[in-house]
Amino acid sequence: MNEEKIAYTLIRSARKTFSLSVNGEGEVVVRAPRGAGKDAVDAFVLQHERWIAKRRALLAQAKPDLSDGALIKLYGVPYIIARGHGRARLSGGMLFLPAEEREAALTAILKKRARAYMTALVREYVAAYGFRCAAVRITSARGRWGSCNEKGAISFSFRTAFLSEAQARYIAVHELCHTRQLDHSPAFWQAVGKIMPDYAAVRASLRAASVVMYWL
Ligand SMILES: [Zn+2]
Repeated sequence: MNEEKIAYTLIRSARKTFSLSVNGEGEVVVRAPRGAGKDAVDAFVLQHERWIAKRRALLAQAKPDLSDGALIKLYGVPYIIARGHGRARLSGGMLFLPAEEREAALTAILKKRARAYMTALVREYVAAYGFRCAAVRITSARGRWGSCNEKGAISFSFRTAFLSEAQARYIAVHELCHTRQLDHSPAFWQAVGKIMPDYAAVRASLRAASVVMYWL
């Protein structure tokens, strides 16, 4: 039995149940009803000890190596990381990152890369299938790869840069199909399948890829 207590951040609210999550830094966040006692919260965390350990191990091993010489793939294209000066830069198969604060520099260039890449994909499908897309936005969303509003504006998480080309294409097609149909009805999936016949396998592969949501 592990006697060491797990540190956690407690957020009380008007909710009725407990929930627990591990953020990108490996910190445990517990959400609990206002009236829940400290013992009940501690017991809840203890019950999930193994799950927390697993989740932390997964996050630790999943973090990308940003040291010089390491390889990183953006939309499936490999880049070798090298020391640069100032802002991050992609050039000739290399990703130049400054010596300090590499994660922040990487985030900034991924936002740019995601904007160019996802916009190009959207344009390609708009030209081929006549979708109406009002705007493409890039967000820092962790919970979702993309979203579409009723005005036809599509948002993509910059974290899509860590996905493969096929996965990014599926996300673009999925959101573009939402410009015609905002639900997930059988007709919606049929429309997705017409453009991407193997979408089910690609969609399934995204579940395993969701760990990249916590890389930055
Ligand atoms: Zn959807």
